[in-house]
Amino acid sequence: MKKFIGIDFGGTFIKGGLVDETGEILALESVPTLAEEGVFAVIERIKKLIDKLSEGYNVQGIGLGIPGLIDCEKGEVVVSGNIGWERVKIVGELKKQYSCPIKITNDANAAALGESRFGSGKRYSSSVFITIGTGIGSGIIIDNKIFSGNNGAGAEIGHMIIRKNGEKCTCGNRGCFESYASANALIRETKKAIEKTSDTLMKSVPLSEVDGKTAFIFADKDAAAKKVLDEYLTNLSIGITNVANIFRPEAIILGGGISKEGDRLINPIKEYLKAHVYAKALGPKVEIVCSTLKNAGVCGAAALNM
Ligand code: BGC
Repeated sequence: MKKFIGIDFGGTFIKGGLVDETGEILALESVPTLAEEGVFAVIERIKKLIDKLSEGYNVQGIGLGIPGLIDCEKGEVVVSGNIGWERVKIVGELKKQYSCPIKITNDANAAALGESRFGSGKRYSSSVFITIGTGIGSGIIIDNKIFSGNNGAGAEIGHMIIRKNGEKCTCGNRGCFESYASANALIRETKKAIEKTSDTLMKSVPLSEVDGKTAFIFADKDAAAKKVLDEYLTNLSIGITNVANIFRPEAIILGGGISKEGDRLINPIKEYLKAHVYAKALGPKVEIVCSTLKNAGVCGAAALNM
């Protein structure tokens, strides 16, 4: 069976996988992103990842999923606020070393492709995949095809503005959905609550160790954690309801680290959606499901060459 490499570029880690045509990951490796070390250092780390994964295999293609505005034709990261890149011709750089086909797309589009080809998206011809991590990304599947807007610059639901003069976003705007509903937003609000609430049980967690799970862990027994979580889930639900109203897809699939919370995450969203989506129960149902693939981004990036 043919083998492909898929690279999923996250704010914290870059994951790479050796993937076969059925979407099975045969080997998985990751390296820290460390974008602050500069473009050159990051590309060198990616090359090491590729070399490690392809050792002993005749790899048929390399695919990359990178956050931000990606020019798939030119193989260029046009701009990525998440990692501070502008006009990086990454495919050209990699082509100097590798002779197999190399393709690039937005990270969330790659993950949506992975889900729709190998995961829970297989059941639906229209779905929106939303990844909740450092940022919020999305991939829109309409009639089994990805819709990514003019020159791949669309489907940026993380940058829907949901608050006037709200929190600052990595894109330079204020009040983006991402700055209220990403894992980073949840971490920021959890830390704020710990700092300003004298009697919260969350004080047992050092600020440097607060992550996207902290509020979920304490919410049942701590009022401050519950408040943070309720507020977060409402913001997330507002964005998801907007997406449901615009596309009315058969399903919205949630991925990224926070989606591991399963029912604790999706049940409140389902309730909000039921109460607020246009035409309510009179309209077709929008299923809310969690991604079934552990590494949708890796599989989807590999699938770019399948
Ligand atoms: C970027 C998207 C990306 C998402 C998830 C957002 O900030 O604008 O392009 O898909 O983060 O990484």
